[in-house]
Amino acid sequence: MSVLLYNTMSRQLEPFLPIKESEVGLYTCGPTVYNYAHIGNLRTFLFEDLLKRTLLISGYKVNHVMNITDVGHLTGDGDDGEDKLEKMASKTNRTVWEIASYYTEAFYKDYDELNMIRPTIVCKATDHVEQMIALIKRLEERGHTYISGGNVYFSIDSIDDYGKLARLDLEALRTAVRDDVEVDGNKKNSKDFVLWFTKSKHGEQAMMWPSPWGRGFPGWHIECSAMSMHYLGESFDIHCGGIDAIPVHHTNEIAQSEAATGKQWVKYWLHGEFLLDETGKMSKSKGEFLTLSLLKSKGYDPMDYRYFCLGGHYRSQLKFSFESLTTARTARRNVYDRIQNLLNQGAKKIALQRSEALACQSAFLEHIQNDLNTPRSLADLWGVLKDEVLSIDEKYTLCLYFDQVFGLRFDTITKAEEQTFPPEAVELLQQRIEAKKVKNWALADSLRSELDAMGYVVKDTPSGSSLEKKM
Ligand code: AMP
Ligand code: ZN
Repeated sequence: MSVLLYNTMSRQLEPFLPIKESEVGLYTCGPTVYNYAHIGNLRTFLFEDLLKRTLLISGYKVNHVMNITDVGHLTGDGDDGEDKLEKMASKTNRTVWEIASYYTEAFYKDYDELNMIRPTIVCKATDHVEQMIALIKRLEERGHTYISGGNVYFSIDSIDDYGKLARLDLEALRTAVRDDVEVDGNKKNSKDFVLWFTKSKHGEQAMMWPSPWGRGFPGWHIECSAMSMHYLGESFDIHCGGIDAIPVHHTNEIAQSEAATGKQWVKYWLHGEFLLDETGKMSKSKGEFLTLSLLKSKGYDPMDYRYFCLGGHYRSQLKFSFESLTTARTARRNVYDRIQNLLNQGAKKIALQRSEALACQSAFLEHIQNDLNTPRSLADLWGVLKDEVLSIDEKYTLCLYFDQVFGLRFDTITKAEEQTFPPEAVELLQQRIEAKKVKNWALADSLRSELDAMGYVVKDTPSGSSLEKKM
C-alpha cells in the first residue's frame, strides 16, 4: 500500500500517509456549469479519476467530494467581469437555473461515458450558501476581512504565509500594490479577494441571497473551502485541480481556510497539467470547441480518448490532435482484439498463484503507485498481452486487474459471436469427415476444394475438423 504522490506544496514526491488510517478524504474542484466541458477540462477529471482508482486498488476507502460551481465564478480571476452563468443565461435567453441544470446533466453524461467513478458526494454551490456565510463570519470574527465598496474582502496581509502553494513573492506583490489598485480601487492589496459580493458590476443578478452584509452572492473560492470542510472536516488528505488553479483559486482557498481554522487544511495538493490543442491553448470561446460529443461525432469512442490520456503522464502537457487520437484508437482496439482472442480461447478469471503472474501484478502496482505512471503501466499491459510464459487465464485476469485503474471497460469485452454456416457447407464438412474416416483422401480433397470455392476454409486439428469463413 505504498503510494508516492507529487505534492505541489513541497514540489516533491512524498509517500502518501492519510490522516485516518485506510480512509482518504479527497476533494476535487468540479466544473463551472455554464457551457459544455472541453476535452481539456475532461483530462483533469480523468486524472482525478485515475488517482481515485489508484487509491482504491491500493486498499484505501475513498471519500470523494466534488462541487458543482453554479454561481460566483466570474469571467476574470481577479474578481472582475461577469458571473459566467449569468452571462450565458442572458446570451441565450434562458434562466441561470436552466443553464446550470442543462450543463450539469451534460457534464454527468461525459463523466459516465468516460467511465469515471462518480464521487461519493457531489455538492452544488447554490445549496451551500449557508455554510459559506458561516465561514465568512468566522473569518470576520478573526479579523481577516474588511468591507469596501459593499463587498466583503479577504485581507491577505492578515496572514503570514499567503501564496505558499504558488510560492508567490509577497514583497514583489506589496510593491506592486500601488499600480494594481486601479483594477479594483476597493482592494487594499491587489491580491485581496472577494468573499461576498453585494455590488455586482452588472447590478442585480438572478442568483442572490440575504446575508449579514446585504443581498449578494459568494465569491468562487469560498465555495470550495466551505463545502470541502462541511463534508470532509477542517483537515483532509488530498485536494486536486488543474494547474491553472494554483496561483489564484487554490492559493485563496488555502488562505481563507487556514485563517478560519488556524490549522493545516490539506495535506497533499495534486495538479494536472494542461491539454493543449494545435493553437497551444484549449478554449471555449472559439466557435466549435473540442468536446467529447464532437469526438464521438467523428467516430471515436470515449474509451479512445481515455486511452489517449493514459498515454501521457498527468504532470506533463499533452498535445491533442486527431492524428494522435487515431493512433490511440488503433492501439485501444488492438488491446480489445487481443483480449477477445483470449476469451475466444476460453480464458476465464482465476486467482493468480504462479510467481510469473504475481510479478506482473506487482510491477504494475509499483508503476501506478509511483505518482500514477500511466505510460509505464500501459507498457505493462502490452507486456502481459504479448507474454509467452503466462497462461491465457493469467493474462485475462491481469488485464481485468489493470483495468480497475485504467477504466477502459475490459469487462465489457465478450467472445466473438459463434460463426454460423449454411447447411450445404455443414453437409459437405460432414461428408469430408466420413471420407477421412474411411481414408478416401481423394474425396476428402475434392470436398475441401468445393468448400473453398464456397468461401470456407477447413481447419483440421487433433480434436477434429471445423469450418472458418475465408477472410
Ligand atoms: P472549469 O469548469 O472551467 O471550472 O474547469 C474545470 C477544470 O478543468 C479545472 O480543474 C481546470 O483547472 C481544468 N482545465 C481548464 N483548462 C484545461 C486544459 N486545457 N487542460 C486540462 N485541464 C484544464
Ligand atoms: Zn475549487
